[in-house]
Amino acid sequence: MKLSLPSSLSIKDGHLFCGGADCVRLAEEFGTPLYVTDEVHIVENFRRYQAALQQYTDKVQLLYAAKANENPVIMQTLAAEGAGADVFSLGEMRAALEAGMPAEKLLFNGSSKTEADLRAAIENGIRISVDSVDELRQIDAISRELKKQVKIGFRCNPEIDVPTHPKIATGIKNSKFGIPADMILDAYREALAMEYVVPVGMHCHIGSQILEVEPFGIACGVIMQVAAEITKLGVKLEFVDFGGGLGIPYHRGENADAAPTPEEYAAAVMPVFVEACKENGISPAFWVEPGRWMVGESTVLLTRVNSVKKVHKTFVNVDAGFNLLIRPAMYDSWHEVVVANKADAEDAGVYTVTGPICETGDILADDRKLPEVVAGDLIAVLDAGAYGYAMSSQYNSRPRCAEVLVNAGQAELMRRAETFEDMTRTVVIPSWHRK
Ligand SMILES: *Cc1c(COP(=O)(O)O)cnc(C)c1O
Repeated sequence: MKLSLPSSLSIKDGHLFCGGADCVRLAEEFGTPLYVTDEVHIVENFRRYQAALQQYTDKVQLLYAAKANENPVIMQTLAAEGAGADVFSLGEMRAALEAGMPAEKLLFNGSSKTEADLRAAIENGIRISVDSVDELRQIDAISRELKKQVKIGFRCNPEIDVPTHPKIATGIKNSKFGIPADMILDAYREALAMEYVVPVGMHCHIGSQILEVEPFGIACGVIMQVAAEITKLGVKLEFVDFGGGLGIPYHRGENADAAPTPEEYAAAVMPVFVEACKENGISPAFWVEPGRWMVGESTVLLTRVNSVKKVHKTFVNVDAGFNLLIRPAMYDSWHEVVVANKADAEDAGVYTVTGPICETGDILADDRKLPEVVAGDLIAVLDAGAYGYAMSSQYNSRPRCAEVLVNAGQAELMRRAETFEDMTRTVVIPSWHRK
């Protein structure tokens, strides 16, 4: 099957290359399973996304959605480009700050924050996207106790149809996230009356892996209408954050996904934003939180074939499973697979690539046309940079694998593989188990 590869990948002398490095050699040098990331691809993506938005306004800030891939090295790469971050936990907040992202470029999101979460955000001068009035009142109490100002925005649910998997649609009516647009004015009124809480923004995020740009334009229209109304209440808007969600083309063969570009995204959203700003005499910065689009295509997961079994279908048993890439099992996601050491060979059969986990659902790729596969071959699972390693686990007591960063052919570890000792380091033996 001829796949249209992302620019991070190429094929030379029958081998798959990522970021200019030979995947076959990387697998030999670092072992498998192995995540391999092309750093240049991430940098190019960041610059392209930013430039597309800056065609319409200078006041643009990209906040990388840290949850997509929180490897500190990748966070550093993006920080150096000027990225801020959408952070969802104290861990992500700390990762972003340690990567060198300034506090004023961070937004602390989430629908269920603890007192400690809120306190840390306020102490670090990080803006909070407030998900409920209950949360607002807790922020008020902490900020008065600390006598410290805190800038906030509310997460607004625009309640629109979002064409994606229901588990990753977040701006629909029955979503757990945000405050519905028709209830949000009272929340801003209450915030305006608070001593240390300063409402300066608004936030929305309609969902993930969205392959049409129209919903983003519609959401922008709803949000900017609310922006006009809260401006009348007296809110001085510094930013409006439109979240992430731009999808990538996971299907790369027959019936390939037609994924929109950042330029198409900008063309659908920015005129709505710019026009509404002009109409209402406001000039908030345009914030956006791409995660998947920034890192998804940059990375392959390399996995070795342990055995091939011909029964009712032909199974290719590899050494990576949903412990390392859960998306197919969790969201029925499609990832293309390439036999990395036979990357330009003709297809010879239909194979199902299955992991080593003790679960029937541990299937990485079902019924794929591939060149003849034998034990010892190397499979590359494409587009594994977002929600891949970040969602990995140690299920079945399997240490997580290493991650390699490639830049123009140079390849080094950016995370070593875990050991058995790493997995048991937090275990504590109760007294009655001790001799
Ligand atoms: C997950 C998430 C993002 C990133 O979504 P992508 O689809 O990866 O771009 C951005 N903002 C918020 C609030 C999120 O929850």
